[in-house]
Amino acid sequence: MIDSSSTPTTPAMPSIPASLPTVAVASLGGTISMTPSEAAGGVVPTLDATQLARSVPGLAEVAVIRTTSLRQLPSASLGYDDLMAALAWAEQEVEAGASGVVLTQGTDTLEETAFLLDLFWKSPAPLIVTGAMRAPQAAGADGPANLLAAVRTACHPDSAGRGVLVVMNDTVHYARWVSKSDALAVQAFASLDGGVAARLVEGRPTYFHGAAMRAQPLPRPVRAWPKVALVTAVLGDDGELAEMAVTGGYEALVVAAQGAGHVSFGYAQRIGTLTSRVPVVIASRAASGSTASQTYGYVGSEIDLARRGAHLSGWLSPLKTRLLVTALLASGTAAGDLGEALANWSKLTRR
Ligand code: GLU
Repeated sequence: MIDSSSTPTTPAMPSIPASLPTVAVASLGGTISMTPSEAAGGVVPTLDATQLARSVPGLAEVAVIRTTSLRQLPSASLGYDDLMAALAWAEQEVEAGASGVVLTQGTDTLEETAFLLDLFWKSPAPLIVTGAMRAPQAAGADGPANLLAAVRTACHPDSAGRGVLVVMNDTVHYARWVSKSDALAVQAFASLDGGVAARLVEGRPTYFHGAAMRAQPLPRPVRAWPKVALVTAVLGDDGELAEMAVTGGYEALVVAAQGAGHVSFGYAQRIGTLTSRVPVVIASRAASGSTASQTYGYVGSEIDLARRGAHLSGWLSPLKTRLLVTALLASGTAAGDLGEALANWSKLTRR
């Protein structure tokens, strides 16, 4: 910066480095925060966001870090209210001037939490979710590297407008496509259909494509979160468990169906009776790929199930389909309008 009051003969001041961006980091628990407990016989969540941030070499040179400890939970025990609290925290931090926000949590449910947050995230600022596969005391712990990469991604201009991103193992994934593909390996996440968003090279995210088209964000929930059942159709299955879920009070049913959206003859008949009681959505239980819509015509096929009143989830995985259905119902969609709401959600826009 050249001071305008300087005379032309004054030697130029050395340029003042641009101030560091602010990145807000909040912790929810997970392996990244876990230390050994003799009483529990294994690691349990203990470290908070400040302790996590302090353990990362070089973090203070990348951004001004503002830390908040929201929860200390294993990620299987995170609930909708915890995530809505995290969303509110993230929105406040962006309003207060953060360039981006980072949530640390367990990896077991990370593909679900990132997707749920993404359904409601309106800001172009990046919301990054990260975690670790190895606890902090383990040789080769990956938490510090993941947190550093997440913060670098959060304050990189190319990360804007991409919604919620997952950063693990120097790879950036879209919430829409990411899935946990390995239970214990450091390379635990994949984006099988849409592909990864970016890889970090020498600390900088390199995006492979421009900002992706995204669905319109949903309005905030206006009612209690509904119970939406997710059942997997398996060999020799006639859908009895799916019917029990509906009889047990679930408001909607997602079936992780075989192949491109297929079930047995008996299961199809049951779906035909269930669709008059609750919305039924068919997703594919395969690790990747979409449901079909106009290929197979036998009893139990995607054409048959649609004729019986079921909706087809397309590319969305069963886990994410359940969350989308839950969020749509929670934010005021009537059960009878769910098919249209699912179709509208799939209409992507540039934001
Ligand atoms: N593998 C999980 C993790 O990486 C276990 C615990 C959890 O999900 O909270 O954090």
